[in-house]
Amino acid sequence: MKKTLEALDGPALEGQRVLVRVDFNVPLAEGQVADDTRIRAALKTISWLRTRGCRVVLMSHLGRPKGKVVPALSLRPLIPVLEHHLGAPVLFIEDPLSNDAVQRTRRMKRGEVALVENTRFWPGEETNAGDFAEALARLGDFFVNDAFGAAHRAHATTEGLAFRLRPAVAGFLMAKELEHLDAAVTNPRRPFVAVIGGAKISGKIDVIEALLPKVDEILLGGAMANTFFLAMGFEVGTSLVEPDRVEIAQKLLENAGDKIVLPTGAVVAQQLSGNAEIREVARESIEPGWSVYDIDHATVADFTERILAARTVVWNGPMGVFETPPFDAGTLGVAAALAEATEHGTITVVGGGDSAAALALAGLQGRITHLSTGGGASLEYLEGKPLPGVEALNDA
Ligand code: ADP
Ligand code: MG
Repeated sequence: MKKTLEALDGPALEGQRVLVRVDFNVPLAEGQVADDTRIRAALKTISWLRTRGCRVVLMSHLGRPKGKVVPALSLRPLIPVLEHHLGAPVLFIEDPLSNDAVQRTRRMKRGEVALVENTRFWPGEETNAGDFAEALARLGDFFVNDAFGAAHRAHATTEGLAFRLRPAVAGFLMAKELEHLDAAVTNPRRPFVAVIGGAKISGKIDVIEALLPKVDEILLGGAMANTFFLAMGFEVGTSLVEPDRVEIAQKLLENAGDKIVLPTGAVVAQQLSGNAEIREVARESIEPGWSVYDIDHATVADFTERILAARTVVWNGPMGVFETPPFDAGTLGVAAALAEATEHGTITVVGGGDSAAALALAGLQGRITHLSTGGGASLEYLEGKPLPGVEALNDA
């Protein structure tokens, strides 16, 4: 267990400068924040600190500027959004390495908030340079990491800084992520069912292998199921497959026994278009020239039944090309099953950017136990890999 913000509660917080690593890697469109979900997710930690009289200095990366100043990736457009949510002015610190930056944090009033420019504008961020972390550490008196989505990377503001600015503790969002993911992987209530989909089997082999010994069933959909179909000797037409992963798929099927549950049928078309001719076929009847774009109704019914019988469900990766209706039906069906299971007391955890987008599309974000804000980080956590950003924090 890692130390959390709550453990620091007390009068000593008053007037402290708190450096908070947040995940403000938000989508921008025409120089404005297109979706402020990640900003809103950090508000709990920020407000908690402000009401205790802390001076809050926020930092985050955004996009991939690769160690250079890229004006289009500046965090400046986030200022009005933050000000709106906080109802207070927010300082912008353009050059966090300058002496002026340090002076400005010292002059901040209690409860005041500042935002540092995109940390990836400096090469030291991604190389986890000691001198860069050292310089940033001058902007605060202690460190809070609330950027779960970046915790799988050992960068200066996610890892190096935590070792240089003690105490280093988990913010509310980080703590919530760890609590829910942990509840799912260590000592889950059974049956424990994982639902894994998405485009590629290659990116998810590790998580499938890591989850297999822990789960009672693993339901596979999305394009990765096609590679399993190929391993089973079925025709897959022009479907997205990874021929170099057929052997791994075969091995997984041999070793997993009945645990791996594959779709029994598919929604196929000759083009990826909502106007194309669409058929539902059994998995052994996919014809040359046709592509699998979704799981079929029978599979949705089968997966739904298994999800409703579970007491813990982890979901990562859509069941089909949900961006192109009607190939969203399988994914929306699974999302609905998770929402229904949650109503009956099942713990449901969803990770992955596209899976989260699909949930939002279905309007079901609020109806599952926990929607992880970190795609890559949640996958690595489920795989049982230590996350550098978490490891570096003080133990409870
Ligand atoms: P997540 O972000 O939730 O981890 P992934 O990034 O692994 O999910 O996969 C999402 C992508 O997988 C989506 O863009 C979706 O269109 C694609 N996908 C799912 N099923 C298929 C399929 N049958 N054929 C092609 N692409 C698919
Ligand atoms: Mg994705």
